[in-house]
Amino acid sequence: MVTAEEIARITVFADLDPSERERLAKVVADITLAPGESAVNEGDSRALFGLLEGRVEVIRRVDGVESVIGERKPGDVFGEMAMAFGITYPGGFRAAETSRVFRLASGGLFIFIGADAETAWLRPDIALDQKGYVLTGPDVHDAGRWQVDRDAYLLETSVPGIFACGDVRFSPVKRVAAAVGEGSMAIAFVHQFLKEAEAS
Ligand SMILES: Cc1cc2nc3c(=O)[nH]c(=O)nc-3n(C[C@H](O)[C@H](O)[C@H](O)COP(=O)(O)OP(=O)(O)OC[C@H]3O[C@@H](n4cnc5c(N)ncnc54)[C@H](O)[C@@H]3O)c2cc1C
Repeated sequence: MVTAEEIARITVFADLDPSERERLAKVVADITLAPGESAVNEGDSRALFGLLEGRVEVIRRVDGVESVIGERKPGDVFGEMAMAFGITYPGGFRAAETSRVFRLASGGLFIFIGADAETAWLRPDIALDQKGYVLTGPDVHDAGRWQVDRDAYLLETSVPGIFACGDVRFSPVKRVAAAVGEGSMAIAFVHQFLKEAEAS
């Protein structure tokens, strides 16, 4: 049986939370390959493999002639291309020596590219959370960063009259529709802010 510690030795899984590695360890198949035995052949159903021990060669057959076009070492994964592009395996993976792999049956691969709040350039009196997202409205109050004798507008930052919207704003909603909607709301808040500023 593959352990969570062994999963951690696969480079792409090394940064997973221990609990996620435990979950993976429970669902992967532990496979030992004799030299010359294939982990996967062209046309096999898609799965992601992690190489725990040994060495695996990448085999490509063109016009009946077989060539070794690469190899995988312990810590590597293979099979990801077919999953990412939704294609059949363009080549096979065959043990060059006695090898141990795990097989994670999965129909697809989703890559989260990630998102960072690029807010280092903002003036320091605009309050941010620990990850750099801009606090607005009630979150500014909760952080003790609101200094004016009225409630902050929903999208107002800690600096009265400066508004934030979209992904850069601290909020669990990171979607196009939310960003667009907040943009139009922010404009309405600007008008309201200016109207009140003129009246006072
Ligand atoms: C991989 C991925 C997939 C997604 N898929 C979906 C989806 O399917 N459906 C969905 O609704 N949402 C999806 N989202 C989320 C969606 O992209 C965002 O919610 C949306 O783009 C937020 O819009 P925004 O205008 O707030 O920010 P952004 O679209 O990030 O726009 C901010 C812009 O500001 C620019 N910028 C940054 N710093 C500066 C600076 N100092 N000076 C000038 N310009 C600057 C950036 O280059 C960028 O162009 C996805 C996000 C990612 C990362």
